[in-house]
Amino acid sequence: MHRLSSRRLATAIKDPYNALISIRQSPKQGEGPLAPLTWVAKDNITTTEEPTTCASAALKNYYSPFDATVVKLLDEAGATLVGKANLDEFGLGSSNTNSAFGPVKNPLYEEFRVAGGSSGGSAAAVSGELCDFSLGTDTGGSVRQPSSYCGVLGFKPTYGRISRWGVAAYAQGFDTVGIVARDFSVIRKTFDVIDKYDEKDVTAMPPWIRNKFGAAHLPKKLRIGVPREFLVGELLEETKKEYSTTLENLMKAGHTVVPVSLPSIKKSLPAYYTLVSAGAASSLSRFDGVRYGVLVGPEYPETIIPENRAHGLGTEVKRRTLLGNFTLSSESGDHFVRATGIREHLVEEMNDVLQFPNHLINTEGNPDGVHVLVAPTAFGIAPTIEDYKLACRTSLVNGYINDIMTIPASLAGCPSISVPMRNRRYGIQVMTQYGFDRFLLKAAELIEAHK
Ligand code: GLN
Repeated sequence: MHRLSSRRLATAIKDPYNALISIRQSPKQGEGPLAPLTWVAKDNITTTEEPTTCASAALKNYYSPFDATVVKLLDEAGATLVGKANLDEFGLGSSNTNSAFGPVKNPLYEEFRVAGGSSGGSAAAVSGELCDFSLGTDTGGSVRQPSSYCGVLGFKPTYGRISRWGVAAYAQGFDTVGIVARDFSVIRKTFDVIDKYDEKDVTAMPPWIRNKFGAAHLPKKLRIGVPREFLVGELLEETKKEYSTTLENLMKAGHTVVPVSLPSIKKSLPAYYTLVSAGAASSLSRFDGVRYGVLVGPEYPETIIPENRAHGLGTEVKRRTLLGNFTLSSESGDHFVRATGIREHLVEEMNDVLQFPNHLINTEGNPDGVHVLVAPTAFGIAPTIEDYKLACRTSLVNGYINDIMTIPASLAGCPSISVPMRNRRYGIQVMTQYGFDRFLLKAAELIEAHK
């Protein structure tokens, strides 16, 4: 243990953004490689000192009997946890408006614009300088998209790199703990501490795969792939302008920008929502008031589960539960299998265009391929809360459609980071092959230098 000193931090945090669900009273200053950095954990990551609510009314008084592995590792490395961050309930959403604790205000704007989601509190806390870094979780973009909206770095590592022990599951085959920070050195230091195999997490990347990636040397000239399927009609003019300025600057500096095609990107949105709704229906079935969650009263045992779920869970959670249970039923046909097929195709297409081998499934790599893929992280800047709500009232799909930009990296399980462009209101997303996280961080830092 590095915690030799038990000096208490005097400063109380002020949170004008509703970014935090709980604030740790007199947190202890740690000692170690991450001291004196302060951080907040998305409130679906367990800590024993405060409730872990997942932003759900069902868990508002739930105390975990143990700290998540990531919390322990960061504590041992001297980082000081100062609070727990707001989110969309259980991570289901893209705006942090699906929270039992209210929406998060984006710190970049005077007017109320959404912070993005589902890790809206984690991104806003870093952007508003309530802490040095935060952890979020990213199932389909929940670290990258709010980071893009709030003007900070949002890194989703390769699936399986960071332990999910003590992280409430949304969709087990996608959930990835991610890091939000204002600069690369903090992302790197934090990643070095939590990028560890954990035998308690059955989905953790095993040591024999971890050992395959070697040193991440950046070539003098980067080959950057621009997947044309990301250049969708919904991208706003300003986003395209910011994005092309960065690409032009990179070309002027001698890097190569190559158009590439990954046709399965077009099918990723429905494939993702099919798979994660099934995952959510299964993961969230434990919040029934018996195993976890509110207890409305034991008088009517036969109705206790439906009553608890009706009271405790929000609309989006209920919607996904219905959708997911339908997908998993025999009546739904072969949706799940087809969605899995799209996921497999996308991985094959990525293996074809990327230079690095995919060590998970032992591919060779394409010597003429690109080092990284880039795309805008979101269609545009953070919408105002009124515009966002109106768009969702007009069609529920409007709440999901933006995710098309971040979902492909989640389906592929590959590492991806959102880097703020010139005026911080837009993010550029950089992705690379499964497991090449350290290469990705170097390449993204280089790309940031050309914004
Ligand atoms: N918006 C996406 C969803 O609701 C992604 C959420 C996430 O990554 N946790 O599923």
